[in-house]
Formats: sequence, structure tokens, C-alpha cells
Amino acid sequence: MKDYVIRATAGDGQIRAFVATTRNLVEEARSLHETTKVATAALGRTLTATSMMGLMMKNENDKVTVIIKGGGPIGTILVTSDSKGNVKGYVTNPNVEVENYPNGKLNVAGAVGTQGHVKVIKDIGLREPYNGSYPLVSGEIAEDFTHYFALSEQTPSVVSLGVLTRADEVEHAGGFIVQLMPDAEEENIAKLEQNIVRLSSITNMLKEGNTPEDILNIVLEGLNPKILDRCEVKFECECSKEKVKNALVAIGKTALAEIIEEDKKAEIGCQFCNRKYNYTEEELIEVLENM
Ligand code: ZN
Repeated sequence: MKDYVIRATAGDGQIRAFVATTRNLVEEARSLHETTKVATAALGRTLTATSMMGLMMKNENDKVTVIIKGGGPIGTILVTSDSKGNVKGYVTNPNVEVENYPNGKLNVAGAVGTQGHVKVIKDIGLREPYNGSYPLVSGEIAEDFTHYFALSEQTPSVVSLGVLTRADEVEHAGGFIVQLMPDAEEENIAKLEQNIVRLSSITNMLKEGNTPEDILNIVLEGLNPKILDRCEVKFECECSKEKVKNALVAIGKTALAEIIEEDKKAEIGCQFCNRKYNYTEEELIEVLENM
């Protein structure tokens, strides 16, 4: 089954919803970056939420980047989505290991940390992209997105994200974002709250074989949900030898001159997808001369 996100409304347009199944793109991120289970969960949750945020963007060329820095051993989580929900991302330390919670669940907050910021950069074609930074509240990711929507967009939201890894492979991944529009009536809000209280976790719902359509109907039961569209999403990196070359510029003239002198070549990996690019001595000299 391919990954996809459904967009929907409910409660006479007073509620909007996104539900995603993202097993393949999270598995691709895991295999590209060779992340540990807890790193896969943190990165996968962020990829899933950011994909849905990408689909909230209005124009075709819009992009959204989410950067989570919680002070934990995973370092930074960085994910970018285009307006079609296609994502790419990485964490600073894919090898992070943290002891599980006593109930056996992955301690994502232990890896991410709880003291820091969620930064959201929206590139909507203006010279200066929108850029907002909000304190991290839990480090478990979903709550942090809920907090972000409340603070930055004054939109009360319910965010649920989950990644289930068995053995070495991602078995299930997905999530939903349900948001109340400013005109939401008390009755619909109460109904939604009732539904949320008795909801099982997103990973349980996926494990039981529910599709995003099924999950939408469970979360918005009694609120007459209507699906607007269904968007296939994937892990996609559009890097090239030319773009990755910027990393050579970033290391500075002195360091680059040293590499040319000592190694006469360089191999650089794209941080988003780990694809490796090789540069010859001539290519490196050309970069140096243009700096
Ligand atoms: Zn790449």
C-alpha cells in the first residue's frame, strides 16, 4: 500500500482534518539514515506531521521546514515538506539509544529532550520566509505540534503521531491533525472531545488494519466527515552534485585548500538522503577559486 494523506472537513466545515499513513516514507528515512528505533520514531513522527503541514500550504511552490531542538542526545531533527506533502529529513545523531519507558514504550522525549524549541519556517515565495520559534513542551513530538498550532496559528488542534518498528523495519506509521475552525460550535467541540477521549493510539488503529479513511470516521464519528481529496506522499530528495557542493563552500577556504592538498578528492553525503557525491581535484579547485 502506498503512503497517502486524506484531507477532510467535518461538522459543517467547522472542523478540518488530515489523516496520514506513512509507513513507506518512514521506512525509507530509516534505511537511508540507519536510525535506531527511537530515532526512527522521532524522525518518523516529525516527517508525518510535516507532510500534513505541507498539504496545508496554499501555493504549489510553498515549502515548510520544521526544526526541533530539544537538547537531548538526538540533536536536531530537521524535516522539510513541499506543498504536495513530499518530505525529506534527518536527525543529527541517528545512532541515539535511550532506555525505554518502564512500560516498554520508546522514550522519544528522552532522545529529543524537553528543553528547547520547535522552529517552523514557511517559504511562501516572499523574500523573507515566515519564521516562528516556539518552546518545546513535551519532546514526544505530537504535543509539541499541538502547542505550535495553538500558539502560532491560534488554532486548537488534536495531533496524534505514531511509528511502530518491529525487528529492524518500520511496520506502521501515520498520524492525524484535527483542527477547529474559528466558527466551531460548542456542540461539535464537545462531540470531538468525547471521541478523542476514547480513542486508542494511532499505532494501535493502524495495527488493527484501519486505513486513514477508517481512522477519519472513528475520530470524527457523529460529525459527518467528508473527504476532500487523497494525496500520495513520499520521501523525496531533489539533491544534486551541484547543490551538495555548497557544503564544500561552507567548510571554508582554509579547510578546502587542505583537502585539495592532502586528499586531492572529496566525497560528500547529502544530509537529507545520505546519497554520496564525489568531487575530483579539478572540481574542488574550481569551487575554491570561486569562493
Ligand atoms: Zn539528497
